[in-house]
Amino acid sequence: MPLAGAQNKSLVGKLPKMPPRPKLVVLLVVDQMRADYVEKFRGQWTGGLKRLVEEGAWFRDAAYPYAATETCVGHATISTGALPATHGMISNEWFDRELQKTMTCTDDAKVKNLGYAGASVTGGNSASEMLVPAFADELKFQTGGGTRVVTFSLKARAAITMGGRLGDAVTWFDADVGAWTTSSAYPVAAFVEEFAKAHPAAGDYGKTWVPMLPASAYLYEASARGAVPPAGFGAAFPHPLRGNPDGTGPDAVFYSQWQTSPYADTYLTRIAETAVDKLDLGARAGTDFLGVSYSSVDYVGHAFGPRSREIQDVLARLDQDLTELLAHLDKKVGKGNYLVALSADHGVVPIPEDMQKSGMDAGWLNIESVKERVEKSLEPFHYRKPAIADVSASDVYFTLGTYEKLKNDPPALRAVLDAIESVPGVERVYRAEELEDRPATQSPMLRAEAVGFLKARSGDLLIVPRPYWPWNTSTPASPRQYGTTHGTPHYYDQRVPVLLMGFGVQRGEYFQAITPADIAPTLAALCGITLAPRDGRVLAEALRAPATKDPAPNPARAARSPEQP
Ligand SMILES: [Zn+2]
Repeated sequence: MPLAGAQNKSLVGKLPKMPPRPKLVVLLVVDQMRADYVEKFRGQWTGGLKRLVEEGAWFRDAAYPYAATETCVGHATISTGALPATHGMISNEWFDRELQKTMTCTDDAKVKNLGYAGASVTGGNSASEMLVPAFADELKFQTGGGTRVVTFSLKARAAITMGGRLGDAVTWFDADVGAWTTSSAYPVAAFVEEFAKAHPAAGDYGKTWVPMLPASAYLYEASARGAVPPAGFGAAFPHPLRGNPDGTGPDAVFYSQWQTSPYADTYLTRIAETAVDKLDLGARAGTDFLGVSYSSVDYVGHAFGPRSREIQDVLARLDQDLTELLAHLDKKVGKGNYLVALSADHGVVPIPEDMQKSGMDAGWLNIESVKERVEKSLEPFHYRKPAIADVSASDVYFTLGTYEKLKNDPPALRAVLDAIESVPGVERVYRAEELEDRPATQSPMLRAEAVGFLKARSGDLLIVPRPYWPWNTSTPASPRQYGTTHGTPHYYDQRVPVLLMGFGVQRGEYFQAITPADIAPTLAALCGITLAPRDGRVLAEALRAPATKDPAPNPARAARSPEQP
């Protein structure tokens, strides 16, 4: 058709002129980084973390508004701009009522995991359970040209929630076999294969983690009270990475030590830099996406707690790693051409034994006691045993039909609720039907449970622990393997740093109360795309208009008295 041909010809070279966009969006998540680590340690930082605080927009009152402050939930919230009731990643794992078994948030029976560098791995992981697209998916889908999405973490639930469904290279670490891993849900990345072969994690075998700073620079005692270090690590520095004491080479114990050390953060930094180089991230038309979730702070925090030299040290070293990463981006993408967002997926509670010693009310909320007391409370009512199918931290799941029966049996239900509330450390219990449809409420606790509630996946009952009473998920057969943890609606678990830097960002300190669900809408605004959920908002206070639109300074206006309207 000649007419159409003529029109096409006239359109050649006339794509709409795009306003400026960042060349690269860099999302950094520091697993388990409490917001107050910035306040406590930034005076000692000299590198990338310091630069983000000083050159960027620092949100000092950012916190998750929901109860299940866990890795999968936090990463999905940052990645989608939605709350768990919307994005569906309500927990790291939940009890699947149809399959009658516990599944992790990234389990997908339709895909197979693939180990890099010839490693054989098991399982299958993807973003199939995430109910809305990741920001990275939308970026790729809406910008129409050449966006590349690359994510790395030690954890599948972090790399996958950031990388979404359309990621080009989504890579995590299988610590059982020491292998970098992706799945058939994603392309196999040649550059990861090459890097994994040339730089096996086993290369750090035999190293010893020693303090980086002089002893006088550390805030806390050399050995943290109540710490539960990984096998082969003592309660204080130095920490040799030599695996099983009677082992002769890298084994699963070594990989666990490696994850609980700064070497894993350094590795993630190097492989991220390699991705920038090999894929020319930020160097072509369109906006690329790089997500790195630094997992080691979480492993170190679980083992040694927030009041430890180990936490202070691993952050001081991450500060150095980020110096390198940002310098690399300055060189390859150009300062001001890329946009960085740094946050955390959750905080952490101090080690209960440490708090008790100081005379404060703290302890462990024992999940096994919850199960035992509930079963016992139903004995007089002649319910089929077991009544409980699973207790996954806060979520109590009953066996098929049991909760329906309990709802019509007020005395038995009362007995169950009383039994749970009698367990040391339990503050209160919500019933599922109290949380549906995000009820209007003045209660911050009810709201926190409701915005994280999804009927199909959440428990029949939800337990709120007392402050400073973390979950103890150990059983007589498997002792507790962590010194402390997170996952509650208390502020120390919810509060995290949010830092933005680079393209379009107005530096400064911001004290507005915000949530990490605001990160994705803000990135979207700067990239000129639209997300589906509206749980978060654009952090407009920290954005600036393009330089051409800056109004000229107006001396008359500046001279007015502040009282004038
Ligand atoms: Zn954790």
